[in-house]
Amino acid sequence: INFVKTYSPLTSDEIVAKEKSNMDEKRFKHCIGVSETSRKLAELNNYDPDKAALAGFIHDYAKQVSPARFIEVIKEQHFDPDLLNYNRAIWHGIVGSYFIEKELKITDPEILTAIKRHTTADVEMTTLDKIVFVADFIEPGRDFPGVEEARKVAFANLDDGVGFELAHTLDFLITNRKKIYPKTFAAYNKWAVKD
Ligand code: GDP
Ligand code: FE
Ligand code: FE
Ligand code: FE
Repeated sequence: INFVKTYSPLTSDEIVAKEKSNMDEKRFKHCIGVSETSRKLAELNNYDPDKAALAGFIHDYAKQVSPARFIEVIKEQHFDPDLLNYNRAIWHGIVGSYFIEKELKITDPEILTAIKRHTTADVEMTTLDKIVFVADFIEPGRDFPGVEEARKVAFANLDDGVGFELAHTLDFLITNRKKIYPKTFAAYNKWAVKD
């Protein structure tokens, strides 16, 4: 993997090495998959493929940071205290952007926002936000009932891909009686509702 532009004083090799050392092999493979799928979705939606590939690659940079460290950062950096009522599933995107800025030294706001929104989505979504959100769901390593349909829908129309994914996520959260993060709920109402 090599990134022509890193949006950071770090080289491509340094970014890749840090990413690799921050997660296990399985998660690293997932990040490569999301990077490749982000590139494809960018090409289909007139977005910079190299920038999308980089954002997709680092989207789960903080996925395996310890919960104790997340709690520390939420408190010290004055993130919304309501985040403390959730867990790493929600933290690794919203708070994960802090680690990306600090450790990968990427400050590009478009990239950081796409990382923040990659799990919950949001009412406002840029093209890059949608690309990373959807690529995370349909990358080649994903295997769940409905993934083929999700790929078909997303490659045909990015917004429909966002809606399909949010409907699937809400379905999963409700079935398993999980707490719904307000942004996930608002995003569902914005992107998934048909009327
Ligand atoms: P991953 O990091 O590649 O595994 O994928 P994501 O970052 O998209 O999602 C991580 C987890 O967060 C998934 O299991 C989602 O179901 C879960 N998730 C997404 N939205 C919510 C929410 O509103 N509440 C809760 N509790 N979990 C959520
Ligand atoms: Fe994630
Ligand atoms: Fe996701
Ligand atoms: Fe992911």
